[in-house]
Amino acid sequence: MGETPPRCPDCSVEMEQMTLKAGGYNLRVVSEESTEGILGSLGVKEKFAAHVFVCPECGLSRVYADIDE
Ligand SMILES: [Zn+2]
Repeated sequence: MGETPPRCPDCSVEMEQMTLKAGGYNLRVVSEESTEGILGSLGVKEKFAAHVFVCPECGLSRVYADIDE
């Protein structure tokens, strides 16, 4: 993820970072790939925190997974 917030492709304004919650929990994106190591062998999937950017003009939302590579 870059330093500056993304811009809405329709309105060209900066999108606002927000938190998307589901049932009181911060949203996570879950990969089909298993986590490496012992947890992966137990069937634990890779999970990433999700960052959401919302356009204040039109409400368009983008979700970015916090992939750290
Ligand atoms: Zn917009």
